[in-house]
Amino acid sequence: MARSRCYRLPMAAIAAALALVFPACREAAPPFLGLVKPEDHVWLRGKRVFIDPGHGGSGSRDYFRVGPGGITEEKANLEVALALQGMLVRSGAVVAMSRSVDTAVPMEERIAMAERFSPDLLLSIHHNATVRTGDSVQYPSVLFWGSRGVNPASHDLALLVLEQLERVTESKGGVFSDYAIFSETGTRILRMTKELCPGIIGEGGFLSDELHSRRLRDHHYIEDEAVAYFLAVSRYVQWGIPRGEVVVSCGVDTRCAQENCLSTRNPVVAIRVFSGNSNAGIDEGSLKITMDGVPVGSRKLCIDMFAVEYGRELYPGTHRFRFCFRNLRGQSSMLHHALVSVPPVQGDYKRLLETGRRLSSGAATARNGLFMLLSASSLAPADPRGDEVLWLIAGAFSRIGERAMANHYRERVYYFYPQSRYGAAIAGSIMRERGLFFPADHYGKAVPVRGDHDFCRGCGTTRP
Ligand SMILES: [Zn+2]
Repeated sequence: MARSRCYRLPMAAIAAALALVFPACREAAPPFLGLVKPEDHVWLRGKRVFIDPGHGGSGSRDYFRVGPGGITEEKANLEVALALQGMLVRSGAVVAMSRSVDTAVPMEERIAMAERFSPDLLLSIHHNATVRTGDSVQYPSVLFWGSRGVNPASHDLALLVLEQLERVTESKGGVFSDYAIFSETGTRILRMTKELCPGIIGEGGFLSDELHSRRLRDHHYIEDEAVAYFLAVSRYVQWGIPRGEVVVSCGVDTRCAQENCLSTRNPVVAIRVFSGNSNAGIDEGSLKITMDGVPVGSRKLCIDMFAVEYGRELYPGTHRFRFCFRNLRGQSSMLHHALVSVPPVQGDYKRLLETGRRLSSGAATARNGLFMLLSASSLAPADPRGDEVLWLIAGAFSRIGERAMANHYRERVYYFYPQSRYGAAIAGSIMRERGLFFPADHYGKAVPVRGDHDFCRGCGTTRP
């Protein structure tokens, strides 16, 4: 935006005359803050932002993170972070920083600080560098943990930050999974905070690039970059951070041996959704729910409640509901999950196993059989013959067309039962296809399960 257009001619003339007399005045007025008024971004009030300026305290030893002219990454990261902190505080947001001076803060401490702070979103601020500085590589990138499928909210935030970093660096960049950088684990800060809130690592260009390193030494540019983050955060919060919870139409015992024990086997289990934006509801078609990894449908009960169609009965054992959705501004919730348990009685395990085995082999009954086997598996996870149950579950998933889940359960057999008679067959079949992966689970953010009383309150006066 051309600033000169903001002033009428006489003002411009006065400003030019003043600038001639007091050249320092021009220096003291950073270009962007005059146009961005943090106080106007009222939706940021009370929002909690955790800022992690990357690295610190090692500039003298760390030749890799030093650009032309001696600029260090940790210094540029900190300067951008401090300017951003100032803007966010002026807008009324509550900010915590993992460091405010040039000092080394161990990663575990940064993560612990973020956990204690319980933020609405997390930004880790970095700048990139190449080893061969003569290559003049220069583009912004934004990293998020995992994949878009399991971490959609962070992906949304990453896109907004990228748009702003592209504007300020005047170059095209990209959003990447942090597994693109560390293919085995992703990054620690994002991995360890992925269940807290949406989070990203911003890489605001390459300080190894000659021109960009000069810009990063200019405080006007540093403020521009901070403004870029500020505008992305503001837009993200303004569009709303949707969230949800689980409500059930029966009593919930939170002190029982398992998690959230239900008092009946056929309650209404509903997802209650909050769009996070008072001007936009939720996109009902975007609501995706799984129970124990099996996709399940839902029916609308009222404006913000959707009943999960889990079948006739919640079988004994533990069940995990996972869900996510978007609001009408296109913003995704985090992946959410909640556990409920149905207390078993004697004979349940045997019944579920036998009936489940029989039903899971027929095309029409595979789904119901699968639910039974999954329930059985949750009742006796360390059964010495558990590999057979997992093997049957894999077969049933494949029968209902859930190939990825089928492989996931085959990998569980391979890794958790090294002596299993199925091991060789699994290794043979999956290795040929795509290689074996250790079956790590990501369930998303845990949300509360509310019982009977809350159910009625959430859905008006009538109980479905
Ligand atoms: Zn870095």
